Amino acid sequence: MVYIRRARRAKTAAQIDLDLPGLSDAKRRPLIEEQLREQTAREAEVSAARQDETRPQQARRDEARAADREQAKRERTAAAAADTARQTLACEDCGLEQTAGRCEACSYRRRTEALIAKAGMVVATWSADLTDQNVVATQRPGTPTDALDLSNRLSGV
Ligand SMILES: [Zn+2]
Repeated sequence: MVYIRRARRAKTAAQIDLDLPGLSDAKRRPLIEEQLREQTAREAEVSAARQDETRPQQARRDEARAADREQAKRERTAAAAADTARQTLACEDCGLEQTAGRCEACSYRRRTEALIAKAGMVVATWSADLTDQNVVATQRPGTPTDALDLSNRLSGV
């Protein structure tokens, strides 16, 4: 900021030297000070006017931000309530209470069944004679239970 003031003072002094050449230093110095003061006052006015212009915009932005925060808070509260309600649900497979719809054991059992079904589909694809149209029609991986049955047959279960 000091270099800006110095640059401004030098520019003002140069302009005064240009406008009023041969002015004595005693008359020149107060003139420079006066012009610098006026310049500072004008800048302060412009700055204040700019702030007055932007104040309503800032207020609207603050309001919008506050509304967004309120909305986010309501959504978090609703999500927490929904999560709490979901936690109270019984397991839909075995009926165990407070399991959010599925207990751990049933989750693992279902995942295991799904993996076995996928493995069965892979086995069915490998073992099929893909040159025989009848085989392709019947061996095509179908529903997971078909694949599970096939997998069980192949593994001797
Ligand atoms: Zn269960």
